[in-house]
Amino acid sequence: MQSLDDLKNKLERIDGRGYKAYKDIEGLYQCEEYILLIDHVQGDPFASPSRIRIRLSHEYACFPENTYNTVIRDIAFRDFLTRRFVEALQKICKGSRGLGNSGIISIDCPGQEILERTSFIIEEQYIEARFVLGLPASARKIDGKQAVAMFFDELPKIIAVAFYFKNIDRVKLYEHIETAEDASFLRDQLDKLGLVAFIADGSILPRSSGVDPSPLRKGNIVPFVAPDSLRMKVNLPNRGMVAGMGISKGITLIVGGGYHGKSTLLSAIAFGIYNHIPGDGRELVVINSSAVKIRSEDGRRIEKTCISPFISNLPFGQDTEAFSTDNASGSTSQSANIIETMEMGCQVLLVDEDTSATNFMIRDHRMQNLVSKDKEPIIPFIDKVQLLYQDHSISTIIVVGGSGDYFDVADCVICMVEYQPYDYTKEALSITEKFKAKRKKEGGGNFGITVRRIPLANSFDAGKGKKKVKISTNGLRSISFGYHNIDLSAIEQLVDISQTRAIGDAIYYARRFMDRTLTLKEVVDLVMSNIRKNGLDILSPWPVGNYAVFRGIELSCAINRLRTLLVQQKK
Ligand code: ADP
Ligand code: MG
Repeated sequence: MQSLDDLKNKLERIDGRGYKAYKDIEGLYQCEEYILLIDHVQGDPFASPSRIRIRLSHEYACFPENTYNTVIRDIAFRDFLTRRFVEALQKICKGSRGLGNSGIISIDCPGQEILERTSFIIEEQYIEARFVLGLPASARKIDGKQAVAMFFDELPKIIAVAFYFKNIDRVKLYEHIETAEDASFLRDQLDKLGLVAFIADGSILPRSSGVDPSPLRKGNIVPFVAPDSLRMKVNLPNRGMVAGMGISKGITLIVGGGYHGKSTLLSAIAFGIYNHIPGDGRELVVINSSAVKIRSEDGRRIEKTCISPFISNLPFGQDTEAFSTDNASGSTSQSANIIETMEMGCQVLLVDEDTSATNFMIRDHRMQNLVSKDKEPIIPFIDKVQLLYQDHSISTIIVVGGSGDYFDVADCVICMVEYQPYDYTKEALSITEKFKAKRKKEGGGNFGITVRRIPLANSFDAGKGKKKVKISTNGLRSISFGYHNIDLSAIEQLVDISQTRAIGDAIYYARRFMDRTLTLKEVVDLVMSNIRKNGLDILSPWPVGNYAVFRGIELSCAINRLRTLLVQQKK
C-alpha cells in the first residue's frame, strides 16, 4: 500500500498540469492511524466531486462495543458520527478553493430522523466514513498546493474530531443511542399492547414550517397531554416509565375545529415509523412500522390494480378489477393507493380529509337520493373502513372535521381542542343514538376481492442515450429513471433524498427478481431482505456514501408510479 507521502509527492508532481492528471491519485494510502481511499476522481472541476473514504481501525477509534453491538445501536451510532462529521466540516472546512467544486468536502447530511445510512460503516476491524471532496483547480489546471492543504491539514483535523471516542461528547452520544433504542422498543411493544400508535406526554408535535421539519419554537406551543381515558404507561429500557396516549387497533377518528391541530397530530403519527433525534419533540411518538399515509393523487398512472372494492361500474364498462389509466382521478387514485398498500402488507392506514377526495370519503343521504347507486361507481371509504379491519385486520386513523356520519364506524373519537386531545368517544356515540344516520350503507358485507400483481422486467428500462443505466434523483420526491420521471410527491413518509436515491437504484436492482412468477410483494421482500443481510451497498457497483434506508412500501410505491410499468395479475 502507498503511504501518505506518496500522495503528497504525486500532488506536488502534478501541480499545474491538466485536471485529468488527478486520475493518478486514485488508490489506497496508509497513514499512521487511518487509511485513505480515493475511490473515484472527478473528470473536471465542475463534475460531481471525487469519492473518498477514510478507514480507522477500532484499535485507534476506541468506541466501546455497547455503542454499536445491536442493530439499532449500530444505526444510531453511525448516524451520530455522520452528524459530528457534518459539524466538523462546518467548523474546519475552508470551502471553495477555486473553480467549480474545488475545495468542498461534503458528507450525507441527516435531518430529524435517525436513519441507517452508508455515510459511516462499521466493520469488524474498522469504522469507515464515505464522503466527497472537490479536488481543487485553478483555471482548469490542478492546484496541487490547495489539494495538499485539503488532504494534509483539513482532513486530519476533521478525522480527529469525528472518529475518536476520546474526542466525542459521550453524554450526547449515549443520549442519541438510547433515544433511538427507546423509540424502537416502544414501537415493538405496540402490537402486544393492542395498539397501533403511541404519543408520549410532553411530545412537541408542530413543526417550524411546511418546509422545515425541526420543532416549532416560536409562539404558544402546546405540548401533548393524553386524555386520562386513553393514557397508558410503558416501561422503556433507558428512560424508564413513560405515559402517553395509546391509539388502539380498529378505527380512530381525529375530529375538531379547523386549525386545532388535527393534521399536525396525524402527521406526527405518520412519521412515527422513524426514530427521531433528541430534541425533536417526537422522540416517543411511534406507530406500527407498516403504517402508510394515504392520499388522493389525481394524474398518477395505475397499472392493472384491482380497485373494485371501492369502484365498480365505471362509464363504458371500464374494468375495475384490472384497472389501468394514465390519468387517475382523485377517487380512483386514492383507491389504488389503498389497494396497492394492502398488497404490500400494510396494517395501518392514515387518512387526512385535507388530502382526500371528498367523493371517496363520503356520500351523504341527500346525494344517495339524488344520484342513484347504479350511476355512482364509488363505494365511499366510510362503508369500507370497518370491513378493512374485519377482513384484513387493517386499522385506520382518520382525520375528519367535516362529516359526523363517520361516528357510526369509529371505535374511538379523539377531539382536538386548542391543540389538546380529548376523548369524545362517548359523546359521539350518544350523538349517533340521538340523530340516527339517514345514509344507507353501500357495498355489501365484505371488503371485496384483492388481486396480487406480477411485475414484468421488460417494462423497466433505465437506459438513456449511450448509458445502459441512468438513474438520478431530482429532489426528495422525484426519481429520473432512464427517460422517465417517477413522481413521488404523494409519498408523504419519505423524509430524506438519500432514501429516494437508494429507491431509484433499488428499482433497477429489483428487476433481477422479476421472473414472471414472483409478485410485486415477493420481489420487494427479496430486495429488502438482501439489504438487511448485506447492506445498502448491494444497490451500487461501487461504495456509495449517500444512501439511506427506506421501507419496502415506499419502494413499491415508486415501482407503481413508473409510467412504463407492466404487470400481470396473479390468477
Ligand atoms: P387542523 O388540521 O386541525 O386544521 P393543523 O394541524 O393544520 O390544524 O394545525 C394548525 C396550525 O396549528 C399549524 O400551523 C400548526 O403548526 C399549529 N399547531 C398544531 N399543533 C400545535 C401545538 N401543539 N402547539 C402549537 N401550535 C400547533
Ligand atoms: Mg387539517
